Amino acid sequence: MSKAHTGSKTKEYLQRYMEGVEKRNPGQPEFCQAVYEVASTIFPYIADKPMYHENQILERMAEPERVISFRVPWTDDEGRIRTNRGWRVQFNSAIGPYKGGIRFHPSVNESILKFLGFEQTFKNSLTGLPMGGGKGGSNFNPKGKTDNEVMRFCQSFITELYRHIGEDTDVPAGDIGVGGREIGYMFGQYKRITNRFVGVLTGKGIEFGGSKMRTEATGYGAIFFLRNMLEQHKESMEGQRVLISGSGNVATHAAEKCLQLGAKPLTLSDSGGFVYCADGFTQEQIDWVKELKNVRRGRISEAADEFKNIDFSEGRPWGVEGDCAVPSATQNEVDGKDAKILMKNGVKAVAEAANMPCEQDAVDAFVDGGVMFGPAKAVNAGGVGVSGLEMSQNSARIAWSEDELRKLLENMMKDIHDSCVQYGESKSGPVNYLAGANVAGFVKVADAMLSYGHV
Ligand code: NDP
Repeated sequence: MSKAHTGSKTKEYLQRYMEGVEKRNPGQPEFCQAVYEVASTIFPYIADKPMYHENQILERMAEPERVISFRVPWTDDEGRIRTNRGWRVQFNSAIGPYKGGIRFHPSVNESILKFLGFEQTFKNSLTGLPMGGGKGGSNFNPKGKTDNEVMRFCQSFITELYRHIGEDTDVPAGDIGVGGREIGYMFGQYKRITNRFVGVLTGKGIEFGGSKMRTEATGYGAIFFLRNMLEQHKESMEGQRVLISGSGNVATHAAEKCLQLGAKPLTLSDSGGFVYCADGFTQEQIDWVKELKNVRRGRISEAADEFKNIDFSEGRPWGVEGDCAVPSATQNEVDGKDAKILMKNGVKAVAEAANMPCEQDAVDAFVDGGVMFGPAKAVNAGGVGVSGLEMSQNSARIAWSEDELRKLLENMMKDIHDSCVQYGESKSGPVNYLAGANVAGFVKVADAMLSYGHV
């Protein structure tokens, strides 16, 4: 069979496969988008590996093992009863217990959680640790709620979820809208209901079984990955001007690590707009933003009132001139137009620190345009990686030092980078990190599924 013929057959299979996925998942565009992104790189890889086709591996991988949806009633400070919906998507447990964060945001729905759970399966595989993929959350909006309201909501959420999770079954963590405060409330309620002190959640406070470096892991890991990509292409982090979106856990720690490695973090944002500092943010300014977001729960625009060399604008930061972009807020925050502007302004590397922040046409523009493009499942895997290490520490009832964990994180990101290069290297062009990450993540899960037979 000629190569061209194989290519056209692969395209035809992919198209037919996606028609099936879309038919089975109506009204779930984010989920279909995530499946397409993976399938478009896996189909060429498995073209000459019939065991994956014969065993319907990709079909089975695109179907969650279980989706749990439940009512979350809670009482606000005025004594009114409020009702939200909660979910846990237990996507794939082929290589370990389900593992993935919980998101509280008004936009949360089944499509978004399925896309996140699907992605998580490949990401967790890339870490090299025994973790399956899952994701959960609620359409609860924590913005503007008091501490007591958030506590009552978290307690109600876990009062239903506790029966579906466990240290060897499913181990949730934080995500958008779920940080240390929320994990504390949920762990406290789990312990109270079950009378067991076990590692059922990660991202816990250090005092009650949390791991050092977990808070920093996603943002730091993303910048380690960016550094690895630059070094692979004979460049360094020194002096790089980095555009970052978001101002939450991932964004602030990404900015901090840029600074530590001699780069200049130029922007941060939230859903109201972005702040720009031509000199690059200082550690003092980053600490101020962390306090603003974690304690005062204010808006990023306030940074421009506080610091003379910081400006605020509405919209996204992608029109600012820079060398690297690290989208760290949310899904689909970089579209095809943004990608063209970034490339025109000379951006040579994009590291997806948020989950699926780039729309498909932006991804295509970066990959086709020769930009070093690190996909989320590789770039932000440091967070779940250190969560996996938190699970190990909890099981062994030990706590590793910050230095040990920093080294483990740095090594893990290097190993993930090298796996992407192994599967994504091409003789003619730059490394295709997207294909490399998808294939490297796929192989381990697919081979485990083959071992189990038709389950
Ligand atoms: P946080 O809740 O700490 O911060 C989220 C940030 O993104 C906030 O600045 C928020 O602004 C902004 N944001 C959210 N929605 C939008 C929107 N629609 N438009 C513009 N800005 C928006 O979340 P994290 O930092 O933990 O997570 C950020 C991303 O990283 C997510 O995609 C998450 O899935 C991913 N991730 C997180 C991991 C972790 O360990 N925390 C691990 C792996 C991935 P505002 O306050 O205005 O909403």
